[in-house]
Amino acid sequence: MIAEPDGPEDRLRRFATIWSRAVFPVTSTSATRPEFEEQLLPLARRLSEALAARVVDTDEGRAVGAALVDAHCTDPEALTRSLDCVDAYLVLYCGGDGDREDLRSRSARLQHAMAAGFAHALRERTLAEQEAIAQAALEAQGVVAQALHATEARFRAVFEGAAIGIGIADLDGNVLQVNGALLRMFGITDQTMRGRRVQEWTHPEDAPQTWTLYDELVRGEREHYHLEKAFYRPDGTVLWTNLTVSLLRDADGVPQYQLALMEDTTERRLLNLRLRYEATHDALTGLPNRTLFFERLEKALNAGEGQRFGLCYLDLDGFKTINDSLGHAAGDRLLVEVADRLQSCATAPGEMVARLGGDEFVALTTGPDTESEVDDLAARIMNVLLAPVRIDGRELTVRGSIGIVEGPTGERGPAEVLRSADITMYRAKSAGGNRFELADPEADARAITRHGLTTALPAALDRGEFFIEYQPLVHLGDGSVRGAEALVRWLHPQHGVLGPDRFIPLAEHTGLIVPLGRWVLEQSVRQAREWRERYGENPPLRINVNLSPCQLTHPGLVQDTVDILERAGVEPDALCLEVTESALIGADDDLLKPLRRLAEMGVDIALDDFGTGYSNLANLRRLPVSVLKLDRSFTQSMQQFPADPVDLKIVEGIVSLAHGLNLAVTVEGVETGAQAEQLRILGCDTAQGWYYARPGPPERLHELALVDATG
Ligand code: C2E
Ligand code: MG
Ligand code: MG
Repeated sequence: MIAEPDGPEDRLRRFATIWSRAVFPVTSTSATRPEFEEQLLPLARRLSEALAARVVDTDEGRAVGAALVDAHCTDPEALTRSLDCVDAYLVLYCGGDGDREDLRSRSARLQHAMAAGFAHALRERTLAEQEAIAQAALEAQGVVAQALHATEARFRAVFEGAAIGIGIADLDGNVLQVNGALLRMFGITDQTMRGRRVQEWTHPEDAPQTWTLYDELVRGEREHYHLEKAFYRPDGTVLWTNLTVSLLRDADGVPQYQLALMEDTTERRLLNLRLRYEATHDALTGLPNRTLFFERLEKALNAGEGQRFGLCYLDLDGFKTINDSLGHAAGDRLLVEVADRLQSCATAPGEMVARLGGDEFVALTTGPDTESEVDDLAARIMNVLLAPVRIDGRELTVRGSIGIVEGPTGERGPAEVLRSADITMYRAKSAGGNRFELADPEADARAITRHGLTTALPAALDRGEFFIEYQPLVHLGDGSVRGAEALVRWLHPQHGVLGPDRFIPLAEHTGLIVPLGRWVLEQSVRQAREWRERYGENPPLRINVNLSPCQLTHPGLVQDTVDILERAGVEPDALCLEVTESALIGADDDLLKPLRRLAEMGVDIALDDFGTGYSNLANLRRLPVSVLKLDRSFTQSMQQFPADPVDLKIVEGIVSLAHGLNLAVTVEGVETGAQAEQLRILGCDTAQGWYYARPGPPERLHELALVDATG
């Protein structure tokens, strides 16, 4: 029989089983092993879901750590075993087919969070126990006043039997009594402990407030304090504790003794250090990872006045090819070698190298002189990459692109600096790679707004942030308004009104141009109907709408246009679609088919910006166009007087050719009366430009049309 492959649920269950088997022997739970497994299953599920989430939520890891304490897994060994289990099996059973390296680093972060959550929960629990003991001690003081022998006996029992260390000293600091647990923590006998003074137990890692708190307590100014504190044992090793010290007063409230309760946290601390190392270092190369690098960078960026930082962001050129052709094992070895070489470049104090992931590395230098140092650092990096790397008997050439950011501290945050370095690195790559480039704030700003605008585009359409301005098209012969070109704008909530040049290329790039273009067409056609209703059909006002190359190839173009015209009740001849000449260069019949269909229905097609592209005049015959729109550059050359005779000849030639082919000629960018006159003489039919009107709201066209209807 062939076994059914395991589903994710089976695999999750298997993980929970292994986990419960590993931890059950060291728990103090009263549950049976299967019951305990049921308790672990939801925790396993949380870890599995956190592993798969887009962003690792370390709160989940912390919650699982805390839940272990709740499930009576309070022995540090239970944590160690849990972490070993997660380390070995979580990715294996719950990782799906995700990227292993990424999953491993996620798992490491979850483990770190689990340990932190565990430690925190255990500490909370210990504090609660300590409170209870302190309470018992306070009640015991009542002994003197009320001679309640039973209470004192209870205190004795708690004192001797407690798992945490308890010590009592007088207010001068002379140790009077300690319990067995405390002696075991220190590894000494009662004899040597008695007669010692609390003040002797200083340690270089004492928190600054340690002894102030102590002084306040023995003076009777505070009732207790909690601290993490280290002690030297007689054998020279260090004991780390969670320490609570309380003041004991007599029946009249006069301070008499101090009571110290301590919990040994040495092992947990070591475990935390190990986990912290794993969570902050890259498993493959041993270099600091992204997390640690961010911490260091943040610290460097917060360094005081006069300090600077320099950062080199390195990405190997063509690493993917090596990985794909020689396999991941070879790729890994290459990365290890590169990491070693990089490390040798940044050995001075204040310098560090880290691996951000994949084939991306960073080197950081800090101090007052990074302006000159960072270039040297980049040069050193390029230099160590020069020698080929030998893998499996092959010599591989390694090249890289570096983006450098350098500057004073205190101005930017780590994310911003890293983004700038990343953008700069891409600039180095697109300039051919194997080089370094220095960040340029202006280029950054452009790339950042570009990025910001691109991501904001789709929502902008939904939120109605686009609007259309109309620029009249005027007949050169009689000066009457014949229609208008629809020009789209974006009223951006932060940047104000943006012209199409800022966002149309982005909309084309992301495909949003199709719905946006459809919206423009809809609005404009509706506008044309309104004009026609208002001013009649003599002459009928027409609307020109720009089409992007992507819209041309979109299969819905013809149908959408027909629908929009029909819905608005507008004849096709009220519409002129403007297509740039460059979009039609080399167009084959398939591409031209939709335009031809539209032309056959009566929609005019105009060739926009004519004269800027290839201007293959012979090609004109093949295209389904009925209007040539001469580019602004022709009009511009007519601005000086007398106009360049060669330009005049060219325009004259184009006009007569166009007319010969039955095409109307429109000119753009007419800014003066002289230009208009010149173009009229040359035979152009209609014109558009600031001389007549700037693009504006639709009502403006009414005014113009009215002016020339009446005057
Ligand atoms: P275009 O179709 O060649 O539009 C004419 C451009 O020239 C417009 O710029 C207009 O404001 C400008 N202009 C008009 N008269 C004058 C003048 O006398 N002097 C000067 N210096 N400029 C003048 P705008 O509005 O920035 O549009 C730029 C381009 O954006 C348009 O060039 C068009 O290709 C594109 N565009 C605009 N709206 C749309 C749209 O809805 N869809 C698509 N796909 N593209 C659009
Ligand atoms: Mg146009
Ligand atoms: Mg144009």
